[in-house]
Amino acid sequence: MKIYNTMHRQKEKFVPRHAGEVRMYVCGPTVYNYFHIGNARAFLFFDVVRRYLEYRGFKVTYVQNITDIEDKLIEQSKKEGKSVRSIAQKYIKAFNEDIAALGIKKPDFQPQATQYINEMIELIKKLEEKGVAYQVDGDVYFSVSEFEGYGKLSHKKLDELKAGARVEANKQKKHPADFTLWKKAKPGEPKWESPWGTGRPGWHTECVVMSRKLLKGTFDIHAGGIDLIFPHHENEIAQAEASNNKPLANYWMHNGYLNIEGAKMSKSLNNFFTARDILKKYDAETIRFFFLSKHYRSPIDFNEQILVESKQAVNNFYQSLKEIDFLSLDLENISYTNEQKKVQADFIAAMDDDFNTAKALSYLFELSKKVKKQQFNLEERRRNAKMLVELGQVLGFFSNIETKLEQNLNETAEKLIELMIKYRLEAKKNKNWQLADKIRDDLKKLGIELHDQKEGTDWEIVN
Ligand SMILES: [Zn+2]
Repeated sequence: MKIYNTMHRQKEKFVPRHAGEVRMYVCGPTVYNYFHIGNARAFLFFDVVRRYLEYRGFKVTYVQNITDIEDKLIEQSKKEGKSVRSIAQKYIKAFNEDIAALGIKKPDFQPQATQYINEMIELIKKLEEKGVAYQVDGDVYFSVSEFEGYGKLSHKKLDELKAGARVEANKQKKHPADFTLWKKAKPGEPKWESPWGTGRPGWHTECVVMSRKLLKGTFDIHAGGIDLIFPHHENEIAQAEASNNKPLANYWMHNGYLNIEGAKMSKSLNNFFTARDILKKYDAETIRFFFLSKHYRSPIDFNEQILVESKQAVNNFYQSLKEIDFLSLDLENISYTNEQKKVQADFIAAMDDDFNTAKALSYLFELSKKVKKQQFNLEERRRNAKMLVELGQVLGFFSNIETKLEQNLNETAEKLIELMIKYRLEAKKNKNWQLADKIRDDLKKLGIELHDQKEGTDWEIVN
C-alpha cells in the first residue's frame, strides 16, 4: 500500500509501526459554528481511509479532537450572548449530529482541548526548559529560530517567513513566525491557572498532547485539510520534536481544497455552505459519491451539475440491487468466482495506490452494470451484486441498505410505473413533448422521480 506523504512530497510504501495496527489522528473542528462543506470533505475522506484500512485487516485506532477553547469561540459567545462552554456544547452536539447524518463513523476517541489543560501546561513547561519557549508578560511563545527543523513539512524557510511577515506584526515576538503556546486571559475570558499566570493554551498545542497521549507516542498517520499544513501541522511538529526528539507521526496526509462553482468559498462571496445546508438538499450517499469521484489531493469543484450526476450514480447502484431483489438473496451461500475476485483485486490495487477512490468507484459501476445485464445468468448477477455491496460498504455506501431497498411497493405498482415510462417513451417518439412532460410531472407529484439515462429511464421513490 502506498500513501502520499506530505513530509517528503512523494508516495511511500505504508509500513505501520506495529504490525496489523494503524493509529491515526485527524484534526477535528473548532466548535463555534456548524462546519462547512469543505471541512466535510476532510472528515468524510479520512472516514473512508479508516474503513479501507479496516477492510485490509488492520485494527485502526482513530482519534479526532474537538477544539472547545479558542478565539473564535469567545467571539461567538459574545455574539450569541451565551457562555463559551454552552457555545461549545451546542456545536459539539451539532457536529456529532451532522457527522452521523453524513454516514461518518464515530472516532474511537474524541478528546476535547479543555480536558487536557494540565498536560498542555506540562508540555509548555518542558519546551521552556529546553530553551525553545519564552514568556513575555503572561504570553508564552515557541521560538522557531531555536528549532532546527522548523519548516520541514511546509518547506518554508525562516528568512522567507520573516520577509513575508506583516509590518504590524506582534512586537513581543522574537521572530514573526513564533507562535503562541499560552495566551494571557483578558477580563471576562475563560481562564486556567498556570506558571505564567491565568490564561489558556494556544490551538497548536492541544493536538500534540492529545495525539501522543491517546495514540501512545509516535503514531502512523496524521491527517487534515491542506490548509492545516502551515502553520498548524508545522507547529505541531516543532513542539513534538523539540520536546522529546521523536517524530510526531510517520505519514502526513492532506486533502485538497473545495471550490464552489469555480470560486473560493467565503462568507463575503455569499457562497458559504454548511454540511447541514447541503444535507437538506442531497442525501449523504450523494455527497459521499461526489467527494470520492475525485482524487482526495486534487481540488474539487462543488457544483449542482456534478451533484445531480452523483445522485444518479448512487440511484443506479440501488436500481441494480432492486432488480436482483438483493434483500432476498441468501448471501452466505453465494460464493465468488474468479470474475468477482478480479474486480476485487483491481479495486484493492486502486485503493492501495494512495486511495484512488475515483478509480475504485469505476469498479462499482462495472459490477452494477453486470448485475443489470439480463443476458447474464442469474447466479452470476447475484455474485456481482454481493461484491458490489461488499466493496461499496468499504467506501461507506449501503449502510442502510434494508431501508433503502424496502419500499412498500408491490409488483403491480412497479409494473404500472414501467408502463407509464413506456407510454412516455412512445409520446416522445411521436414528438408529443407535452404529454411526455406531463407523465413525468404527474409521476413526480406521486413521489416517483424519473431519471433519463443513455440506456433507458430509471425511476426512484423520493419520499
Ligand atoms: Zn490539529
